[in-house]
Amino acid sequence: MGTFRAIRIDKAENGVSAAFVDFDEAELMEGDVDVRVTHSTVNYKDGLNITGKAPIARRFPMIPGIDFAGVVERSASPAFKPGDEVLLTGYGVGESHLGGFAQKARVKSDWLVPLPPGLTCAQAMAIGTAGFTAMLAVLTLERFGLTPQAGPCLVTGAAGGVGSVAVALLKKAGWRVIASTGRPQEADYLKGLGADEIIDRAELSAPGKPLGKTRWAAAVDAVGSHTLANALAQTQVHGAVAACGNAQGLDLPATVAPFILRGVALLGVDSVMCPMPLRLAAWRRLDQDLDRAALAAATTHVPFARTLEVARDIVEGKVRGRVVVDIAP
Ligand code: NDP
Repeated sequence: MGTFRAIRIDKAENGVSAAFVDFDEAELMEGDVDVRVTHSTVNYKDGLNITGKAPIARRFPMIPGIDFAGVVERSASPAFKPGDEVLLTGYGVGESHLGGFAQKARVKSDWLVPLPPGLTCAQAMAIGTAGFTAMLAVLTLERFGLTPQAGPCLVTGAAGGVGSVAVALLKKAGWRVIASTGRPQEADYLKGLGADEIIDRAELSAPGKPLGKTRWAAAVDAVGSHTLANALAQTQVHGAVAACGNAQGLDLPATVAPFILRGVALLGVDSVMCPMPLRLAAWRRLDQDLDRAALAAATTHVPFARTLEVARDIVEGKVRGRVVVDIAP
């Protein structure tokens, strides 16, 4: 047994402490597959976990990192063999099971997705949990029966990770995309990804009316709180909003007016426990449809050593698009 480099979160007097350590392999949790992690990413939840701004870790010590990609080193499962490239998002990894900010992960084979044939490990993590969630949101709107012919689609938190990938995916699917952002300086970036119109997030983030003038047929909301309430209030008759995030807040200060007077639907999106068949379908669709140039434009790479710094930045809304952590490229 040896050690490997990892970020370790421990309980501290005023919350949690996070630091790089040489983690003892003997402390790894149960799992039938060992993965040499080559890439991970910094998601919003990782930021909350590392800064202790929300109680994400449910055991200590914890290795944060809610997703990773890499190469199978050891497998007791017939589904995988050494050398296979795999990715993992969710299932409580980085929360209740040791996560991806580490050179090694031991996990259940049932949680692993074979790397889609058209993606590298680095690209899979450029997508990561945030991009996967954006894909689930688009699939959710489609399953509800909405098409681009119904009208435009709003994306909130557009310059963030979920938002950036959602803009690119919706554009590719033929939607007219309205991107809401608090960073007007990112207008060109968002237009490059596929946004047709940029609106200031201040239009949506303050308390609003139960119903407003209708502006979109659908929405992908990464923000929650008043933003989600206003997105619902301005959705046209029989449209739908896919709610996937809470960057503004966990609350939903809304009325039932959009539901009962316009038949608007509020659709939930959860990536963590997403069933495997839907997971595989979403990754197939990402492989097939996500424009690689848009993905590259939305992605920044950082060395493993900078992860703690980026985790602090993401909770302050300073990160644009997606950040890939190069663990051992
Ligand atoms: P990012 O930090 O990358 O993006 C969030 C964006 O939200 C920011 O870039 C900013 O966009 C906007 N924002 C931030 N703070 C506020 C605020 N106070 N008011 C209004 N807008 C704000 O995070 P991710 O994209 O990784 O995640 C987005 C959300 O989705 C998070 O809440 C996350 O927890 C959730 N999530 C949920 C998942 C699920 O399974 N349901 C999976 C993955 C993420 P801009 O600068 O453009 O205004």
